[in-house]
Amino acid sequence: MENGQLNRLKAFLSSPKNIVIVPHRNPDGDAMGSTLALCQYFNSKNHKATVVAPNEYPEFLHWLPGSENVWLFDKQNNQSKRAINNSDIIFLLDFNALHRVGDDMAKTLEAYTNDFAMIDHHQQPDDVATYLYSDTSVCSTAQMVYHFLEMLEDTQSITKNIATCLYTGIMTDTGSFRFRSTTSTTHRIVADLIDKGAENDKIHNQVYDANSYNRLLLLGQALTNLKALPEYKTAFITLSDAEKKKYGYQKGDTEGVVNYALSLKGIIFAAIFIEDVEQKIIKISFRSKGSFSVNKFARAYFNGGGHDNASGGKSDVSLEETVAYFTSLLPNYKDELQQSYEE
Ligand code: 5GP
Ligand code: MN
Repeated sequence: MENGQLNRLKAFLSSPKNIVIVPHRNPDGDAMGSTLALCQYFNSKNHKATVVAPNEYPEFLHWLPGSENVWLFDKQNNQSKRAINNSDIIFLLDFNALHRVGDDMAKTLEAYTNDFAMIDHHQQPDDVATYLYSDTSVCSTAQMVYHFLEMLEDTQSITKNIATCLYTGIMTDTGSFRFRSTTSTTHRIVADLIDKGAENDKIHNQVYDANSYNRLLLLGQALTNLKALPEYKTAFITLSDAEKKKYGYQKGDTEGVVNYALSLKGIIFAAIFIEDVEQKIIKISFRSKGSFSVNKFARAYFNGGGHDNASGGKSDVSLEETVAYFTSLLPNYKDELQQSYEE
């Protein structure tokens, strides 16, 4: 954050404030971990902070400390709107543009007249925040919240619960500390979070070893549908609505499934196409290794975006048509895909 902004924000926060903290729609581990950590930090400093999430987050994150006080904008609409309209400032965490909270909540935020602060690691943040801390090189928003507390010279106020939330955000957004964005700084921060009480083995168990039987069967179906196109170093997975229904799909069940496609030897570009009949879209996740930018790819063809190696988007046509369109694009990228990664 630019120094002038930081000083103004520090001055603003020097007296008790009503603060709302917002993650993106369909919040993931980083979105929930970073918002809950910041919320508990502010509440420990005599502010009145509340997390208002656009919609429900996965079951495997419900154990996170502070989770019981989260309001869901779509379900608890009146309380959520009241909290937003009564707040002195809104923190936007882990997203870069207001539309990422969904149309309905975006309207409420667009009408908001006090200031926004944004802490985020996605590319090209929209110009909405009076206080902007944007850094695309940082692995997770949770790590940025840690750096934000460093800027406030207050990491000593990190409690066990705050450390647990930050650890969860960093762990989930780095694929358990394995993606390229994981640096020695990340490991130093994680070490400090463990010193401050984060129980790393428990957190891993609660997030990754909490599968339902049906979720594993759905994963089996996804792997059965896996297609590899070695000439493009590409692999993709599809899941139809019927397949989701067959295995009692719950929110979060498909999280991370795309990484199985990327785990194939020689594959550097992976996608998953998931039919969503409610929203009438095909929701897509892209992942890559090396220099092939799935952020650019998702922006160019699928109305989406994200990071260079992890992005998402959507399509309005059928699952079959979406896959056909996707595969028709690959020849344009053959050389780039062949050259993009040294094994
Ligand atoms: P995921 O595939 O896990 O849903 O998302 C991967 C990354 O891409 C996340 O950082 C997420 O914020 C971003 N992303 C996912 N879907 C979209 C989308 O529809 N639009 C944009 N701009 N970013 C997305
Ligand atoms: Mn994130």
